Amino acid sequence: MKLFAPRTDVAFDPRVVVTPESAEKLNQLGLEVIVESGIGAHLGYSNETYRLKGASVVSSTTEGFAEADWVFALHRPEAEQLAQMRVGTRLVGSLDPFGDKTFFQAAMEAGIEAYAMELIPRSTLAQKMDVLSSQANLAGYAAVILAAKELDKILPMMMTPAGTLQPSRCFILGVGVAGLQAIATAKRLGAQVEAFDTRPVVEEQVRSLGGRFLKIDVGGETGQTEQGYAKELTAEQLERQRQGLAKACARADIVITTAKLFGRPAPRLLSASAIAGMSAGSVVVDLAVETGGNVEGSKPDETVVTENGVHIMGPRKAENTYPLHASQMLAANYFNFFSHFWDSEQKLFTGDHSDPILASTCLTRDGQWVHAQIQP
Ligand code: NAD
Repeated sequence: MKLFAPRTDVAFDPRVVVTPESAEKLNQLGLEVIVESGIGAHLGYSNETYRLKGASVVSSTTEGFAEADWVFALHRPEAEQLAQMRVGTRLVGSLDPFGDKTFFQAAMEAGIEAYAMELIPRSTLAQKMDVLSSQANLAGYAAVILAAKELDKILPMMMTPAGTLQPSRCFILGVGVAGLQAIATAKRLGAQVEAFDTRPVVEEQVRSLGGRFLKIDVGGETGQTEQGYAKELTAEQLERQRQGLAKACARADIVITTAKLFGRPAPRLLSASAIAGMSAGSVVVDLAVETGGNVEGSKPDETVVTENGVHIMGPRKAENTYPLHASQMLAANYFNFFSHFWDSEQKLFTGDHSDPILASTCLTRDGQWVHAQIQP
């Protein structure tokens, strides 16, 4: 069985999903691993390194697609490229399952079995395959480092003969995977940390990391869905929340927002008036910028300086600040997904489609749309 990893546009996204280390492990399972020439050159992974780990190298995407039984891709290939794959090819990638569906139409027509890694269920068993979590961890860390670099102050308290510098104050909005890592990173750097989330269960987690949990009574029902994601707030609840948050922002040097809603646009948490209440030189990092943004005025991959001197940063994929580690984690997630269903003795993929992990990730198979929850 052959598995191919195509090269992607490094300027758009520098991560890879097959590293030499994961190529070796896939190879040891009994797979023939093929990578496109130059796939990891920017990360110090030369073609030779891949070859030494048992992979073969092809010079074009078309060549790889023509041979592969499995394709491990970072994102969607071009819809037109699907026809270059063999009928029945299993395509695994961050395929944007809620995005433009013409891609999946083309996948059905080409007989491709498409697996979207964003849909890995949030179960203990599947945690090792969860690309959203592994990347959110890095993004939370990166957000603090990016903000600390942009800020004209240091984060820790410093007592010197020349006087005492007060610690910077960091406010984290949304305490999921990224938010927890941001709290831990800011604490390690010596900042004073405050955090907020609509899911009350996280209060204890914030406290255990040494942060202060901000309570805002937004009224009505809040909390989380069965899958562990936040419930969407009503317009009225969001307005009450915005007022409470504006006060916390006014006392912060750094604000990091991580609030997302799975498969839907991110909630708008900070309005221009909240930003106007912040001090000159303070920094806001909007990690939800890619799905619409939590912060009014944030722009993808730009730093916007407002009239009152607040720096609003909108890293589309903050995890890409560290592409090597981001790639290592992604490659491990993909490997774990595959190997979970691999029978090493028979050298066969034994995944049964009623398995919750496959049922949750597989969108198209045998020319049909097969996902039960997401509409084609
Ligand atoms: P996410 O990326 O969907 O959202 C980030 C955070 O923003 C969440 O904590 C969410 O509650 C919060 N949020 C949403 N709307 C908000 C609003 N209006 N105001 C303030 N905060 C708001 O979340 P995530 O990082 O994917 O994590 C969600 C939960 O799932 C967490 O409890 C996490 O620990 C859990 N999780 C479990 C697994 C697993 O068991 N395999 C894997 C990943 C995450």
